[in-house]
Amino acid sequence: MSLPPVSSPMPARPLNPHYAQLPTTIFEVMSQLARTHEAVNLGQGFPEDPGPQDVRRKAAEAVMDGWNQYPPMMGLSELRQAAAAHYGRWQGLELDPEGEVMVTSGATEALAAALFSLIVPGDEVVLFQPLYDAYLPLVLRAGGVPRLVRLEPPGWRITPEKLAAAFSDRTKLVLFNNPQNPTGAVYAWEDLALVAEYCLKYNAYAVSDEVWEHVVFDDVPFVSLMSIPGMRDRTVKISSAGKIFGMTGWKVGMVFAAPPLMKVLSKAHQFLTFTTPPNLQVAVAYGLGKDDSYFTSMRAGLQRSRDRLAQGLEELGFFVLPSAGTYFLSIDLAAGGGPADDEAFCLDLVKNHKVAAIPVSAFYAGEAVRSVVRFCFAKHDATIDRALERLAALRHLR
Ligand code: PMP
Ligand code: GLN
Repeated sequence: MSLPPVSSPMPARPLNPHYAQLPTTIFEVMSQLARTHEAVNLGQGFPEDPGPQDVRRKAAEAVMDGWNQYPPMMGLSELRQAAAAHYGRWQGLELDPEGEVMVTSGATEALAAALFSLIVPGDEVVLFQPLYDAYLPLVLRAGGVPRLVRLEPPGWRITPEKLAAAFSDRTKLVLFNNPQNPTGAVYAWEDLALVAEYCLKYNAYAVSDEVWEHVVFDDVPFVSLMSIPGMRDRTVKISSAGKIFGMTGWKVGMVFAAPPLMKVLSKAHQFLTFTTPPNLQVAVAYGLGKDDSYFTSMRAGLQRSRDRLAQGLEELGFFVLPSAGTYFLSIDLAAGGGPADDEAFCLDLVKNHKVAAIPVSAFYAGEAVRSVVRFCFAKHDATIDRALERLAALRHLR
């Protein structure tokens, strides 16, 4: 038998165009530029602190104690129980650890499982932009038809008019993010009630990405969409231990939904990742039971960092938008009287001034707001100060 010639004259077969045409995520692009230019990286959102020592130690001990084989597909029972107790205590939710809680490999996997299991190709999906970068590609891959609600600075307000224009009888679900990345907006009970009103009116589900639920400031209360009357059994709530404990590489997500939704969601999960490293699950189960003081001091520390960066930027003359939650705050170049090209600003900043930030236009599809630049403040004081010293060179541009 003779093998075919090594260099075949046939053209390469096309790959899936959905992925072939996708750009590389802005987080990866900016972090790569930060490495190349040895910049202070205030782009991609990750804290500089290593995370709570006791939780890290639990994970390390769990490896040595033998938690290294496949855990159950739905997640370790210890973690599901700890999660149900945690959200009962913090958000007043009553969740059945057996039928309504599942552990995933990060919130990203939870999002994929939720969207793949809820969307029937052709279903309309209401999304708010600026959108977290994974949303649109996942909705489109699932065959959903996006209906985009465009939010604008400084308030990023959701109005009845905007919802009325986006929802219809074809709406299958709304993908909601609160607290919101990249804006740092935290939506209040009234905003959630408005979203709920439209979900109920059109019999739509909600996928509520609440990964930043513990990162809220100024005593602003966090309210889960799941707790709004009428939403309990039509909401898929998504959480992330990576954000709760400030260890973004852990990729331990949690998803909460009524049993009929969870049954189908778990089928999507079983062939995405099936399970999540058991040692991390043991550690997260422990961490969720930590005293309130851990969570309140984590918030207080981040709030101090937010204020340090905000004050420094204001002193340099930048127009700082409010941030009520997340690791992020933004400046509005147009409001500060400067050029309104966030991408050009960020490229100049990283290459010539060695500070990486994220242009918020990357989170829009279609007509974007082009004047907003996002900075991550979950950093040590010295890092924030170094970035501010470098930003001082841009004083004339603001
Ligand atoms: N949703 C939002 C809004 C996020 O900001 C992030 C991460 N920054 C994720 C989902 C992904 O979370 P994970 O790393 O747990 O997959
Ligand atoms: N969520 C992080 C951010 O907003 C980044 C996540 C990622 O890099 N995929 O910066």
